[in-house]
Amino acid sequence: MSRFSSCILPPAMLGILGGGQLGAMFTVAAKTMGYQVTVLDPDPDAPAAQFADVHLCSNFNNAEALQNMAKCAAVTTEFENVSAESMRWLAQYTVVSPSGDCVAIAQDRQQEKEWIARAGLTTVPYTVISTESDINDSLNALLPGILKTATLGYDGKGQIAVDSLAELQAAFTRLRQVRCVLEKKVDLHAEISVVVARLNNQHTVCFPPAENQHQNGILAYSVVPARLPQPVLKQAENMANQLAQAMDYQGVMAVEMFVAGNEMQLLVNEIAPRPHNSGHYTLDACISDQFQQQVRLMCGLPPAATDLLMPCCMANILGDVWPENGEPNWNAVLNHKTACLHLYGKKQVRPGRKMGHFTVLADNPDQAWQTARNLHLHLQNSAQNSSTASD
Ligand code: ADP
Ligand code: MG
Repeated sequence: MSRFSSCILPPAMLGILGGGQLGAMFTVAAKTMGYQVTVLDPDPDAPAAQFADVHLCSNFNNAEALQNMAKCAAVTTEFENVSAESMRWLAQYTVVSPSGDCVAIAQDRQQEKEWIARAGLTTVPYTVISTESDINDSLNALLPGILKTATLGYDGKGQIAVDSLAELQAAFTRLRQVRCVLEKKVDLHAEISVVVARLNNQHTVCFPPAENQHQNGILAYSVVPARLPQPVLKQAENMANQLAQAMDYQGVMAVEMFVAGNEMQLLVNEIAPRPHNSGHYTLDACISDQFQQQVRLMCGLPPAATDLLMPCCMANILGDVWPENGEPNWNAVLNHKTACLHLYGKKQVRPGRKMGHFTVLADNPDQAWQTARNLHLHLQNSAQNSSTASD
């Protein structure tokens, strides 16, 4: 009997909850490997729909749509705010990866931090604020800090920096007094993330840590290899493995970490129960990519090799580089011989919206980063120039 007889093999139908760019890149990976794909997403223009065999265009908790998803050989998700309940329900009928329980942990900053501690790892100092009465003088120790809603925040949304107790009061009111965590603001030497692909104890791999730079709370660049000492990067991989192990995680998970202070202490920031923006570099620069791993793991196949083939830098392309009328000037990116452009096919352009990314490969990470920045600046400048020209 084949070693893979208990695995889900092509051309089985795989399901994904969510059809944004992560769902689209998953769908391409699955289709390339010979699987069929059903996407559930309420948006008729969902990026994944252009590649999927079936697009169930309805809400994530629609009973009929979920019944259709239950017929898939396995189901995964592309975003954490899908109801963990729906995933638990689906698990009665089909393989669900990651589990609803793991998704529920990642949905809630409080639970997430409790699990990080349970795995023996460290977070930034924090406290939970559920009601106004939780705000008292003892919280001065966490100031200056950042107040974050426990659930539903992303790309820097749902968080407010606070310097004093009065500001904390005001911020809690502005966040409508929903349950929050108050984190101490740490001095960041760098930020990194590790994408882990875990089937079980015997089969866990990590992609090389990415060094992440944010602008306005949104990821702007990921540089790989991260320009940090090797022992720090090794420790980051070990920590990501340890966390996946503690959660008995099955599937692809990204672990964001802060590299704090001159001593470069690693603190776990948050986890994403899915492939991650900072792992897009794997599409062009590694033996396998994070979406192929997502397909493999939901099908019970062992993860593929994760080696980096060349240093690289991924740059996000946000709606900001679209001129008022027309399309960005892609000339520079398309003419660059080692820049790989990925556009998500989103019809609506908005500032801050993730429209695509590109990855530059180079001989070393500095060069990759500098080239990516120049190409990105070129996109920004030509958007401004053509908007001014049409004024
Ligand atoms: P999101 O869910 O929006 O990604 P994060 O908690 O990752 O939320 O915060 C977004 C960014 O804000 C981080 O990548 C980091 O740059 C900054 N940040 C968040 N928390 C802290 C903190 N406690 N200290 C310093 N910087 C922080
Ligand atoms: Mg984050």
